[in-house]
Amino acid sequence: MHFAPRAQRLASLEANHFDLLVIGGGITGAAVARDAAVRGLSVAIVERGDWASGTSWRSSKLVHGGLRYLKSGNLRLVFESLTERARLLRLAPHLVQPTDFLFPGYPRRGFSPFELELGLTAYDLLALGRSPRWHRRLSREAVVRREKLLESPDLSGGALYSDARTDDSRLTLENVIDAARLGATALTQIEVDGLAKDEAGNVCGVRARDRESERNLTVRARVVVNAAGPWGDSVRCLDEPGIPPVLRLSRGAHLTVPASRLPARETIAFPMDDGRLLFAIPYGAVTLLGTTEQDHRGSADQVSASAQDVRYILDAARLTFPTAALSQADVVSTFAGLRPLVQQLGRNLTETSREEAILVSEGGLVTVTGGKLTTHRRIGEKAVNRIASLLALRGVQVRPTGTRRRSFPGVPPSPMAEFVMSLSEFAAQENPGLSEETVAHLARRYGGWALQVIGLTVENRSLGRPLCPGLPDIDAEVVFAARNEDARCVSDVLMRRTHLFWQAPDQGIEALERVADLLAGELEWSKDRTRVSADEYVREVERSFQWKSDSDK
Ligand code: FAD
Repeated sequence: MHFAPRAQRLASLEANHFDLLVIGGGITGAAVARDAAVRGLSVAIVERGDWASGTSWRSSKLVHGGLRYLKSGNLRLVFESLTERARLLRLAPHLVQPTDFLFPGYPRRGFSPFELELGLTAYDLLALGRSPRWHRRLSREAVVRREKLLESPDLSGGALYSDARTDDSRLTLENVIDAARLGATALTQIEVDGLAKDEAGNVCGVRARDRESERNLTVRARVVVNAAGPWGDSVRCLDEPGIPPVLRLSRGAHLTVPASRLPARETIAFPMDDGRLLFAIPYGAVTLLGTTEQDHRGSADQVSASAQDVRYILDAARLTFPTAALSQADVVSTFAGLRPLVQQLGRNLTETSREEAILVSEGGLVTVTGGKLTTHRRIGEKAVNRIASLLALRGVQVRPTGTRRRSFPGVPPSPMAEFVMSLSEFAAQENPGLSEETVAHLARRYGGWALQVIGLTVENRSLGRPLCPGLPDIDAEVVFAARNEDARCVSDVLMRRTHLFWQAPDQGIEALERVADLLAGELEWSKDRTRVSADEYVREVERSFQWKSDSDK
């Protein structure tokens, strides 16, 4: 089991006096907790929803240097991102995979051929020879040969370059699992609603509510870290009521369309005339399209794609893939998240830096915000370096980070291709009913733990059943998620442990009852609890189509 039973973790949360307590279980909080746990500190991390349920599961799922940051001259961020990309490819090969990106060129949008060549050369050079492969310029004919969908009168040529893709929710989860294995107390469904302060006014813990039992609790810690992402300013206000905000929230939306309507054969990065770069990424039965960038005002809760977001993405796709003629009727699902950027006076949204900020308040609350999924490990390291000086004042010495060479916990025992082959042989012997596609999918999703998922289907053959026709996900993944991965409700499973919410043509609705029943069996739910959890998921699906009623008005 990756995590101790929840009741045990809850007891540990209340009983201990931690060196560090992290508020927020997105990629930033998870990376801080992991880095601190690797250095031998006593750590707690609490998340009010599910791991990665804020912004972190709503990214474009790329581990990349960010070509467009080159254009804005932010070489340091690109260099740092490419260094971290190389590390993640090595340390988490099941979660981060090298991918070729096809970049179409147009005379009137994006980069000129000279800029493109210069940019991609700089991109490869900044990777210091660790790019999965050196970029290549392509003629117009070569682009069309690779991707017929790109055929359009204004296409002038293009290029092929290397970057990487990831599974954002599982990258977050594996950071938390690693921290937990190193002794951290990690709990979801715990909402922090106050800070505890000592007589000198220093933050010395938090007040929180267990959303499952509705119980209030107090957690003691020498240092408290605010990694609440888009909610970071609200947590800062618990420390200093009325303090001016530092965040600028930028909404980014994605949508998926059936692969049959946009059968992209590889990942495509396409420029728009507003200077933005969009992506079309094939994911089995669907193609993911995104993203947008809009200032977000109002609540950070329940953010969804707007009618304007959907229109922008579909217009961009129609311009780039004219023969596909996509329309609103093709949209399978949408999701949107908020980039928790740090305000910079006089800069527009696109120019606002993606670098992280680490702020320490007078009372000692450490806020870690901004940054990217790609640089999460480095952000965790920098934050704990900063925290080390605060802990030193309290007599706690902190050793240097150990995450630079530490593999992720699910890393398979052999190189990916070999591992998939040995897993296929194992499956062929133990459960020949599993398709090759499912075995390869389990290897990529779970790394070394895929053996355990297959093991569940050996004990109970019915768990080898596909969750959705035509997709490789199987029932055993639901059981595994409940037993090992802290899944607490149907949405956790359908949105973040699997990705049927955006990858299945029916968003997993056909499998909903079965998923709810399997979870009910594992988590000992009543009939009412089971229904409530299934209904919550239906509301998530409805929210992903909120844009439709807005555009009908
Ligand atoms: P979050 O993931 O939002 O985590 C904060 C957590 O804190 C939430 O889970 C929330 O529930 C919890 N929380 C809040 N308040 C409380 C409380 N009071 N008590 C307990 N818990 C609380 N980066 C890349 O590298 N590659 C990409 O391809 C990429 N694409 C992106 C596309 C979009 C549209 C967006 C929006 C971002 C993208 N990013 C990408 C950036 C990246 O996703 C974010 O920088 C990152 O996910 C932010 O993580 P976080 O942990 O700071 O915030």
